[in-house]
Amino acid sequence: MLELLQQKLQSLFKNLRGYGKLSEENISGAIREIRLALLAADVHYQVVRDICEEVKQKALGTKVLESIRPGDQFIKIFHDALIEYLASEKQGLSTERPLRILLCGLNGSGKTTTAAKLALWCKKNKERVGLVAADLTRPAAREQLTKLASQIDVPVYAPEKEEKIEAFLSRALEQTKQDRLSVVIYDTAGRLDLDEELLKELQLAYSVVLPQEVLLVIDSATGQKGVDIVKAFLEKIPVSGLILSKFDGDARGGAAFSVKKVTGLSVLFLGTGEKVEAFEPFRAERLVDRLFGFGDIVSFVEKVEAQIKEESLAEIEKKIRSKQFGLDDFLVQMRMLKKLGPLDQLLSYLPGFPGKGQIEIDDKKLKRIEAIVLSMTPEERKNPDIINGKRKLRIAKGSGTTVPEINEFLRRFDSVRKLIKKFSASKEGFKFPFFKN
Ligand code: GDP
Repeated sequence: MLELLQQKLQSLFKNLRGYGKLSEENISGAIREIRLALLAADVHYQVVRDICEEVKQKALGTKVLESIRPGDQFIKIFHDALIEYLASEKQGLSTERPLRILLCGLNGSGKTTTAAKLALWCKKNKERVGLVAADLTRPAAREQLTKLASQIDVPVYAPEKEEKIEAFLSRALEQTKQDRLSVVIYDTAGRLDLDEELLKELQLAYSVVLPQEVLLVIDSATGQKGVDIVKAFLEKIPVSGLILSKFDGDARGGAAFSVKKVTGLSVLFLGTGEKVEAFEPFRAERLVDRLFGFGDIVSFVEKVEAQIKEESLAEIEKKIRSKQFGLDDFLVQMRMLKKLGPLDQLLSYLPGFPGKGQIEIDDKKLKRIEAIVLSMTPEERKNPDIINGKRKLRIAKGSGTTVPEINEFLRRFDSVRKLIKKFSASKEGFKFPFFKN
């Protein structure tokens, strides 16, 4: 996601960091590059103009701080301006319960998948959630929703044969009330194009359900055209927030950057893959940090935390702090990492790692490491320093590996241990390199 913009900005930043001093001339040059990068990313021209103007004014008016490299200071100004443009006034969903959400969008936008993703997200947030298949025109959509609902174990309410939309929605309202659901998501009909009939049907659904949230699903790849779709929906129905689907396939980011400024609506969630779990709340800071190559540490940590039990994390942290981190713990961590699924996707969240598909994680290598550790005695795992030549030979034999492989692995483990020591010794914790103030 956003690879194109990411590449352009990062090469610009590399140049900028080289400047010893920021003159009016090189600020203008940098702004020109930013303008071109944003336009190439299909960002709305008004948004590009405003961002560039703001960055220019701020950069020219900022006193150069001695402790910070001028290039870094400029990057921070741009970083903050972008966050301001992306940040939502509206954070998350309405807190009213029971919450009725009307989900709308064009066919193919990913609406039905998004309904299930949102339901799963609500469920994870301890809501009693249900899905209503309110698309009466396409039986296939109903079947798809029912299948997804059973996959995430959420009840689904579907119309009976020949049932009219109004009667069905009233029935669904009553039924979900009786079932004491706290969040109900209504998946409405879509069309290939926006037409009167679709909008009329939506208005009707709106008047029966009276939802507190009307969320519009937009395919990120539609870029600025997506912004026009939002405007057209907004004319007929009070859309309260947006969900950008298929963000994983969006190398440019035009819609994400333009939509708030042009429509006034906030993006609340991002769809980031085909699986129902590939869904996350939209956070401007995270997006910009990824774009700037700082890596999305928060998303990374959340992903890890979601899949690793809290006790074991706390346990590991305790060990790291008490500096007892041994090979056993390393093995546990490695297995956890394996459980997290495709490592390259996960690692792409971290600073310094290239994007998806560009790093090869060799599963076979991980298996060999596992074999090495398992061939050690408990004492060796706790205290790897005692592993001498003789022990190495035995371990190599036991694990079907070689002594050089074991040496390499122990060397790596040692550097991890040193790194951990350094981190736990630092009082300040982790900081981005140029955010010194
Ligand atoms: P609908 O016609 O709007 O209900 O769209 P669907 O939910 O049927 O989705 C259309 C296609 O987009 C399906 O193949 C989905 O798997 C895919 N899709 C939906 N959301 C995402 C996403 O966030 N990322 C990716 N890569 N694919 C998605």
